[in-house]
Amino acid sequence: MEKVPALHLEDVRRSYQQGEHELAILRGATFSVWPGESVALIAPSGAGKSTLLHMAGLLEHPDGGEVYINGKPTAKLSDAARTAIRRSDIGFVYQFHHLLPEFTATENVTLPQMIAGLDKREAAKRANELLNFLGLGERLDHRPSELSGGEQQRVAIARAVANAPRLLLADEPTGNLDPGTADHVFGTLSKLVEATKLAAVIATHNLELARRMTRRVTLREGTIVELE
Ligand code: ADP
Repeated sequence: MEKVPALHLEDVRRSYQQGEHELAILRGATFSVWPGESVALIAPSGAGKSTLLHMAGLLEHPDGGEVYINGKPTAKLSDAARTAIRRSDIGFVYQFHHLLPEFTATENVTLPQMIAGLDKREAAKRANELLNFLGLGERLDHRPSELSGGEQQRVAIARAVANAPRLLLADEPTGNLDPGTADHVFGTLSKLVEATKLAAVIATHNLELARRMTRRVTLREGTIVELE
């Protein structure tokens, strides 16, 4: 295992103002995720899973504490520097795939690489390798509307890791899929984490799938607690 965690949260705090009340959602969340680890984040709705993923993904600032990405502290960085880290080091998968409807599977995975400066041919080659790895070799030229829910979500996973991030953050990635399809998508995701030494944090309600991850954690009173 490498010496630096892909993600480390140190005493992360976050409150939201709700009318007159202040809601303390994260109250000192601390944990590390190492390369090659997949961590299931299991907690009831409203516990703060999305909030935690937003902090980890540098989409929001914590009120206190520090978020380290690949060992580097991020709190004091400029917005531009945070965006650069987000683009190069972090991949996101959401419950709904948000693929571009006009573009094929290959193109959806090619685009983020071109935005990062890669030549189109090279980007398309890597896109197709990734899609093949995720079992979509026969679907390269299909548009999202021509793909099943599980296939769309696998394209979204390929897109999220197109620029070879060290950290993958997923918010209920299979929440919208039937159990069999969810199982298949999780399987390919696990395979990808293992093969590429990614670190992944996956918020899910599905305990059966969570059992297949390397570790399981929950949020209790705003802190992260390890589960068996
Ligand atoms: P989960 O993902 O576990 O369902 P969230 O992180 O989405 O939980 O939300 C945790 C709590 O914080 C909820 O009670 C939610 O209403 C509140 N919350 C989240 N974002 C905001 C916001 N921008 N403003 C006010 N309250 C928020």
